[in-house]
Amino acid sequence: MTDQNKLIAELLFPDINKTPDYYENFYKQRNLPESAEVTRFAPSPTGYLHIGSFFTSMIGRRTASNSNGVFFLRIEDTDQKREIKGAAKIVIEMLNTFGVSLDEGPLNVNQQDVGVYGPYIQSKRKEIYQTYAKWLVTKDKAYPCFCTAEQLEQTREKQRVYKKPTGYYGENAVCRNLGYKDVKEKIDAGIPFVIRLKSNGCFENLKKITVVDEVRGERIFPENFIDAVILKSNGLPPYNLAHAVDDHLMRTTLVIRGEEWIASLAEHLEIFSALGFTAPRYAHLPVIQKIEDGKKRKISKRKDPEADMRYYLAQGFPISAIAEYILTLANSNYELWREKNPTLSYNKFPFSIKKVTSSSPLFDFAKLNDISKNVISRMTTEEIYTAVLEWAKTNDETFYKLLTCKKQFALGVFNMERNLANPRKDIIRWGMVKDFYSYMFSRAFKVKVSDFATCYKPEDIKGILVAYATLYNEEDDKQVWFNKIRDLGSTFNFAREVKEYKKAPENFKGHCGDVSGIIRVAITGRQNTPDLYEICKLLGSKEIAKRLDKVLKQI
Ligand code: GLU
Repeated sequence: MTDQNKLIAELLFPDINKTPDYYENFYKQRNLPESAEVTRFAPSPTGYLHIGSFFTSMIGRRTASNSNGVFFLRIEDTDQKREIKGAAKIVIEMLNTFGVSLDEGPLNVNQQDVGVYGPYIQSKRKEIYQTYAKWLVTKDKAYPCFCTAEQLEQTREKQRVYKKPTGYYGENAVCRNLGYKDVKEKIDAGIPFVIRLKSNGCFENLKKITVVDEVRGERIFPENFIDAVILKSNGLPPYNLAHAVDDHLMRTTLVIRGEEWIASLAEHLEIFSALGFTAPRYAHLPVIQKIEDGKKRKISKRKDPEADMRYYLAQGFPISAIAEYILTLANSNYELWREKNPTLSYNKFPFSIKKVTSSSPLFDFAKLNDISKNVISRMTTEEIYTAVLEWAKTNDETFYKLLTCKKQFALGVFNMERNLANPRKDIIRWGMVKDFYSYMFSRAFKVKVSDFATCYKPEDIKGILVAYATLYNEEDDKQVWFNKIRDLGSTFNFAREVKEYKKAPENFKGHCGDVSGIIRVAITGRQNTPDLYEICKLLGSKEIAKRLDKVLKQI
């Protein structure tokens, strides 16, 4: 340390009185077993949760949980131009909703901290960053730069002409060796400044560095040679210094983040080293992609509604279906585990960061729908009712009211063919429930004559429906009910048994199943529904008579 550097540091940060030692002592090492991972989710508050960020948060949560570690939230709001008010709250609510619990972070009302490593919102950590920046200047590892935007652009232009990498380094790093007098003059003149790292890398003679990434394995990079900005003119750091200081002081063991950060890893590692910190381990996650017109591309915030996690809520996918789907994208052995453990919570899955591959997983709606159907098929009727009600509360007020005042009826509807060894798997998301069961719920229910199969004569259809209106009795058990259908069919020359019909189809107009098919269309307007007996029981004789009457008038 030269006195000159110390004097410069005082000029730049006259109000900073603490030293790194203060924070080093203040933020104690965590008292955790050696194998415990401390991971974090560190979104910039841009107003919504992208599916890629959700993927990252799930992996952070699972990695911490599976090692009895800690998972915390840090809001990275040092780029205040991009900030959206209330965004921290939105992120917290979204993580809560999607079942990603947080151990620490700005979690209490008004974003009060839970945990002793805060503040967990970066804009509240200005003094900490400045303490480290000041210390780096004192140690001749950083310096103030007074260059204007125009000067920097001229430098970049020159570098482009000479086909050199652009950036502040080498002979163009004109502020690198300013003396105390120069700095004082500029500060006295009120010229704004940034603080830059004094990089040890030399572009003409670059060394290689080796990093072992938890997802990508061993990677070799050229070292950093850019004198990167580590503190902006507004006194807040960009990502690089904030990341190093925060992940060091918050005692993060494993930084899990998107692969877009790999390009700046060498710079980050040089900052850790300048600060005298041991760098954490890293896991750079792949970006989730989709296929469009046969080509792969990133899921984009601008083009794809499914980029925003609110989309899945509005569609009514069960939270656990989304979580399970994300786990299949993260660990390819998830599905096998699910097959072997159909009743366990997905939280019990032994997730491993080592099994995440570096190649981009492909988002596939068919797969998500399939998982969702299975998740719903494992739910109880009560759970389904609660989830549909919850969905309707924010998405369909009329349906919400109907479900509330007709709770028992709705439970009956959702219960149809559910308590079986192989329950029905036709509901994918809560947003489709109303349409799917519209014939049960809708007063404006309609059937057209054209809904009936054209192979039956209108007089047969009419005869069957008139007879059904009188023979239907709510008290009948399923066997009695079905025998009545067989009898009814046979009076119109429909075979009592399918087998019988198959032996000589030319002798019959159809079989008993076709008779119930005609009744089904008349009562529901659909060719396919859950069990007709259950439907009739739920609707009751009066409603059935009303519906049949309406259809009969048209035939
Ligand atoms: N704030 C960064 C982002 O939103 C987070 C990167 C990280 O996790 O370190 O991309």
